[in-house]
Amino acid sequence: MRRDSYKLQGLRKHLVDTLRQEGIRDEKVLAAIAKVPRHLFLEKAFEEWAYKNVAFPIGCDQTISQPLTVAIQSGLLEIKKGDKVLEVGTGSGYQACILSELGAKVYTIERQSTLYERTEKFLNDLGYRSIRTFLGDGYLGLPMFAPFDKILVTAGASALPETLISQLAVGGHLVIPIGDDQGQTMWRYTLTASGEIESNAHGKFKFVPFLKGIQ
Ligand code: SAH
Repeated sequence: MRRDSYKLQGLRKHLVDTLRQEGIRDEKVLAAIAKVPRHLFLEKAFEEWAYKNVAFPIGCDQTISQPLTVAIQSGLLEIKKGDKVLEVGTGSGYQACILSELGAKVYTIERQSTLYERTEKFLNDLGYRSIRTFLGDGYLGLPMFAPFDKILVTAGASALPETLISQLAVGGHLVIPIGDDQGQTMWRYTLTASGEIESNAHGKFKFVPFLKGIQ
């Protein structure tokens, strides 16, 4: 396992300052970003890129989300300690670690077996025991572990997957970007105590596509 260093810690602190300037006010989210060594999620040759506010390729045609996007999605979830959270799109595992630092019990699902295997081992080596990884199609969610207090989709969907809404606990949020390959709107759906679904839009983003089936 590679190390953290004063230089990288300094860059990470600078990233947190950048996110504050971009309008992130959620101190718990900022503390989680200050803690997780994002450079370990990229190949060594690119580690200094880890603390720029940009998305970055992680192989298999996928990207680690931009830190600002991670901060916004994490904040929208309003995680409380002990929340059971389903993440769809494990990718590098970075977002899962942020959720874990926020106190969530994380269930994360990835459709690409190469990424799944790599990230499962990596998260284990990092010591994140509150994250459980699954290889599967996120469109189906994880019915055997439902309901979830929060559900986060980190790939761009073309429509709201009803299966995921049906796995939400009362009072829970589903945060999901919905649109097309040109860009998506970030939606937060909330299941109210009276069984209704409330929704709010939270700006424009650009994610890799939410695809069906396992690869
Ligand atoms: N949360 C990730 C970002 C990954 S990018 C991180 O922090 O690095 C989106 C991921 O969603 C990709 O790894 C992609 O393979 C995955 N994905 C796309 N469609 C999916 C599906 N139906 N089920 C599970 N994962 C999916």
